[in-house]
Amino acid sequence: MAHRIPFNKPYVSGKELEYVSRAIAAGEIAADGRFTKGCARFLEERFGIAKVLMMPSCTAGLEMAALLCDLAPGDEVIMPSYTFVSTANAFVRAGARPVFVDIRPDTLNMDESLVEAAFSERTKAIVPVHYAGVACEMDPLLGLAKKRGVLVVEDAAQGVHAYYRDRALGSIGDLGAYSFHDTKNYVSGEGGTLNINNRALLERAEIIRDKGTNRQKFFRGEIDKYTWVDVGSSFLPAELACAFLQAQLEQLDPILERRRAIHERYADRLAPLEKSGVLRGPRVPAHCRQNYHMFYILLHSEQAREGLASHLRQKGIQAVSHYVPLHLSPMGRKWGYEDGSLPITEDLSARLLRLPMWFGLSNQEQDEVCDAIIEFAGG
Ligand SMILES: *Cc1c(COP(=O)(O)O)cnc(C)c1O
Repeated sequence: MAHRIPFNKPYVSGKELEYVSRAIAAGEIAADGRFTKGCARFLEERFGIAKVLMMPSCTAGLEMAALLCDLAPGDEVIMPSYTFVSTANAFVRAGARPVFVDIRPDTLNMDESLVEAAFSERTKAIVPVHYAGVACEMDPLLGLAKKRGVLVVEDAAQGVHAYYRDRALGSIGDLGAYSFHDTKNYVSGEGGTLNINNRALLERAEIIRDKGTNRQKFFRGEIDKYTWVDVGSSFLPAELACAFLQAQLEQLDPILERRRAIHERYADRLAPLEKSGVLRGPRVPAHCRQNYHMFYILLHSEQAREGLASHLRQKGIQAVSHYVPLHLSPMGRKWGYEDGSLPITEDLSARLLRLPMWFGLSNQEQDEVCDAIIEFAGG
């Protein structure tokens, strides 16, 4: 059934077709044409990233990051269980065992105070996920990584144009990855990046991205023919997707501002329910600047969450829950996790509901959502 007020509608700036046409007219439709390069340069300059490699998806970016971590079978990677499946899958495909850490009750980000205890001799990387575009506590995580000699890979899929102590998410760890999937703030249908902040990883990254060849060196005239030198794949987006994305990145701030207004309106209208203890909205620490990716509420129980979701559905409003904790998935249980392993993840994931959130959501539609929630709460 189509929802009258869906959970998401991808934003379109109006320039996308023009830019795609330009790429076609220029005869550049494969990777690394002027739009691919333009998007990468824009992201590097705007967010202070040493090198951005445009990717077909954030999943691809994470998969490349996992290859760059040079994992051997049985190596371990520390990450939250409360995340999208790609965070774990990328490293599992590369042979690693995911070590899941519980989340903080305020931000729902990986609890940095639990990370040291998750280390073993086999730990090779830490993967903080910036949930809802609110930063993980990066300083202690970077300190731990340095002390133990492991890499930090930021899953910044939701974190484009969000900041931790004035540093852009995705620019802080050795590696980072953004998503431009059509559920995110800035979209190209499918799309993403691998951000390289640790320059020691750059040369190998170029090779892995180009099918394991040294073709980039060849393009720069540094060698006279290129050949197969390492493992690799085709981690290249089509130029057409980057042409589309360019039109979105030009609207970086207007998109943020509209999302901020929607976020604040939800917070204002639901404040009485928050005060009376019916629900709780997002929390953002003072030193984190969010990008208004998501507005979620936490109900008292799973039953209340399901009741509200169904009440909204009856009114044509789509509200969605996530994530099924990875440690309790059929895959996650293979590593010995069971119910109760990560109590805060299990509790909060069962009570969380995401409200409709997209650029074009009107005030009236938003009021309908809020009225329906207030009605459900018996107010
Ligand atoms: C969306 C998302 C991804 C995957 O992004 P794709 O671009 O769809 O591959 C990975 N991690 C998190 C936390 C996400 O929200």
